[in-house]
Amino acid sequence: MTKAILASNNAHKLEEIYDILKDFNYELISMRDAGLEMDIEENGLTFESNSLIKAKAVVDALGCIAIADDSGLMVDALDGAPGIYSARYAGEPSDSNKNNEKLLDALKDVSDDKRTAKFVSVITMLFEDGETIVARGEAHGKIGYEYKGDNGFGYDPLFIDDVSGVTFAELSSKEKNERSHRAKALIILKEALEKRANK
Ligand code: IMP
Repeated sequence: MTKAILASNNAHKLEEIYDILKDFNYELISMRDAGLEMDIEENGLTFESNSLIKAKAVVDALGCIAIADDSGLMVDALDGAPGIYSARYAGEPSDSNKNNEKLLDALKDVSDDKRTAKFVSVITMLFEDGETIVARGEAHGKIGYEYKGDNGFGYDPLFIDDVSGVTFAELSSKEKNERSHRAKALIILKEALEKRANK
């Protein structure tokens, strides 16, 4: 298996991406497990640019294939916020509970029909020779009024998925991995890898 380094130490992301890549003979490893300890400054203004910045930092450091996901939540009533700032919406250091509290507070006067939101994931796979695959996926839903469910991470307990009608935190990881924004980006990545393999 060829090693591919995930430009993240987020175990949830690793788990979601791992299975798909293994079908293409890539063994996905976190930065920490690859012996890379570094803080990557995400100073891009889009999910696409931040995803590329993260992947490039790993390729530059290790000279091997890198995968990066930049993701976040965009809430329509907040003009797309927290968007690329999702991880640190309530400030540094990143704290999911504080982020969720801030989100609930920002939406306290927003009616049900205006609480629409989407999760976005942009996955970049960068090869040693600079070849790049960029895959974007979105999951649509709305923001609830209270926390529901114990699974997942981040904004999952507040994000009510349009398809199932329950929060991402109420879905099993298998169910979430079938329909999440990352899952959809991974389908596109998978198609691109299939096309690449058949060239
Ligand atoms: P990133 O690690 O810079 O991509 O930050 C993504 C942030 O967006 C996370 O810290 C979460 O706050 C949020 N986020 C992204 N994907 C998800 C998800 O699947 N569920 C819940 N929150 C997510």
